[in-house]
Amino acid sequence: IIDDFYLKSQIRTVPDWPKPGILFRDVSTIFENPKAWRGVMDSFIHRYMELDFSHIGAMDARGFLIGSNLSYVLNKPLVLFRKKGKLPAKTISVEYDLEYGTASLEVHADSLQKGDRVLLVDDLIATGGTLLAAVQLIEKLGARTIEAAAIMDLPDLGGSRRLQNAGVPTFSLCAFE
Ligand code: 5GP
Repeated sequence: IIDDFYLKSQIRTVPDWPKPGILFRDVSTIFENPKAWRGVMDSFIHRYMELDFSHIGAMDARGFLIGSNLSYVLNKPLVLFRKKGKLPAKTISVEYDLEYGTASLEVHADSLQKGDRVLLVDDLIATGGTLLAAVQLIEKLGARTIEAAAIMDLPDLGGSRRLQNAGVPTFSLCAFE
């Protein structure tokens, strides 16, 4: 498991982006740093190689990068949860509140079936709105979310608590106050 102090030191903080007053935690510095990126992926692989799940659900767009690596190493199908209008075939969608505004999340209607067990991945949990939207889509298809994983959690924004209250365990490699 990657040292959380080291991991946090490698995440760039950008003040006042995308709006004044927001401290944006930028993980592109992790993707550009093979030692940190490999440490992040090794930590997820270590945790999830023993867990019983059937699919990886990856959140648009930085979650795709984590989900893609996990899918390859753990040999699991990768399901994309995308922002509105990106998926070409029949989709189901749900509206949700963002940290900055509202949005709509979609998944292909044939990507999951009753009984499937989904591990959700994203880069960061803030209010949890995005991951909760994915949890709703998974439920609509008769499947279950077994855990939501992220590189970072912002516990003060309450997302991990909201997810846990909805019956979804969360896992993150570090947290920022
Ligand atoms: P939530 O839905 O939990 O409020 O927000 C999480 C979503 O917004 C994630 O998809 C995440 O990528 C993005 N997000 C919100 N704030 C930040 C941030 O400070 N840094 C990064 N990297 N992503 C953020």
